[in-house]
Amino acid sequence: MDPSRPELVDDETSEPLSGRDLRPIVLLALADHFTCTKLRGDLIERGRDAACVISAAAAIILSAPSMLARASVFVVEDSLTPQDRNALHWIRALDPRRAIVVIASGAEPVDDDAQLWDGVLTRPVDPGELCDVVGALGDRAAAPASAGRGTMRRTPPGFELRVGFPWPMVRCTRCSATRHCEVPRDAVEQGIVMAALVTFGLAHAHD
Ligand SMILES: [Zn+2]
Repeated sequence: MDPSRPELVDDETSEPLSGRDLRPIVLLALADHFTCTKLRGDLIERGRDAACVISAAAAIILSAPSMLARASVFVVEDSLTPQDRNALHWIRALDPRRAIVVIASGAEPVDDDAQLWDGVLTRPVDPGELCDVVGALGDRAAAPASAGRGTMRRTPPGFELRVGFPWPMVRCTRCSATRHCEVPRDAVEQGIVMAALVTFGLAHAHD
């Protein structure tokens, strides 16, 4: 098995999900598109696949499910919109192995009350440093779901969430709406389920 590939496994059986192209990808959500494409090029030059996305939330909701299935690291800025921050909380709840790196704009420490960040970089971003951080976190994403942070799944407040048997399900405790998903048969379908659950979560922010 390619050690740089995130092992996407069935939640209950721990069986690896089947085939298709699952090379891990770094999703960069930076407001300045020039910086984004530059860093993307630097990552690709160093052997990491990467893509620029409009925002973290948009990446989750709008991107092809295959891209979400492959997303091992999200790189975002500390000027996140509440929706983006919310989307990242959901990613953390659904699969804590997906790493989140924040780029800080100043000397002030970035707020991490929710322990959202796996890595913090400061501007201007050194491409080599970014690659090192992404590399270390990408390797963590290859760990089995049962290892380390994989056990620290935290459901966002106001929701009941089930990601495994008998099928993925989310319920909003404030309005009692629910969303049930079919059991994903492969990693791409897992991406579809993740997008559906995050979309539900964002639609039921209720504030
Ligand atoms: Zn609701």
